[in-house]
Amino acid sequence: MVGLTGGIGSGKSTVARMLADRSAVIVDADAIAREVVEPGKPALAALVEAFGPEIVGADGALDRAALAARAFVSEEERKRLEGITWPAIAEEFFRQIAAAPADRVVVHDVPLLVEGTRRDDYGAVIVVEAPKELRLDRLEARGVARDDAERRIAMQATDEERRAVATWVVDNSADLAHLERQIDAIWPELLERKAAADAAEAVAAKSAFENSEDAKPGG
Ligand code: ATP
Repeated sequence: MVGLTGGIGSGKSTVARMLADRSAVIVDADAIAREVVEPGKPALAALVEAFGPEIVGADGALDRAALAARAFVSEEERKRLEGITWPAIAEEFFRQIAAAPADRVVVHDVPLLVEGTRRDDYGAVIVVEAPKELRLDRLEARGVARDDAERRIAMQATDEERRAVATWVVDNSADLAHLERQIDAIWPELLERKAAADAAEAVAAKSAFENSEDAKPGG
């Protein structure tokens, strides 16, 4: 699986859309994390059970600030929160991977890929980069307060840390055509890598089958 990451406002979603236009299946980590706690979902009911009805707003949706105020008070409470959300996230993640047609490149859009512990799980990683000021401008245009964005950037990994795990670094400092051209260059390589990985898997399956033939009684 291919990982797609970058700091906030770097252009991950834009790159994900360009990859999807070329037939990639995008598994969006943030979207899954939001979906599993939507009203009516079992994980939201379990959170209410654990942290109280105050974590749900008048509209019936999860009040993230109220949840954070209750869950991020101790290691034990944080673990309780993760014990509820992680299994739900994992289940949805694997459901989406399993539902992806076998011939498609699957891209996992993970904002915090570098900050997390699963960076070795990816066969290849696309890192999207743009200068900080430009990211702040683009986020501001989208309604995100500049100082809020700046605070979040300071808490995230640095460009250097992301580069250290990158198979490709995509430069999103210019217009969308400039970005498209880079995706055009990467896409055939993604297809080649997928073909190579599929071929290696087929060889491994053949070898496993032949070994099981050897192990057959009288074989
Ligand atoms: P977030 O971290 O908030 O999820 P992101 O990394 O997914 O953000 P995008 O949403 O793709 O980033 O881009 C941030 C904003 O900048 C969006 O409004 C997007 O339309 C705009 N944008 C992205 N790339 C470009 C570009 N090359 N030229 C102009 N605007 C761009």
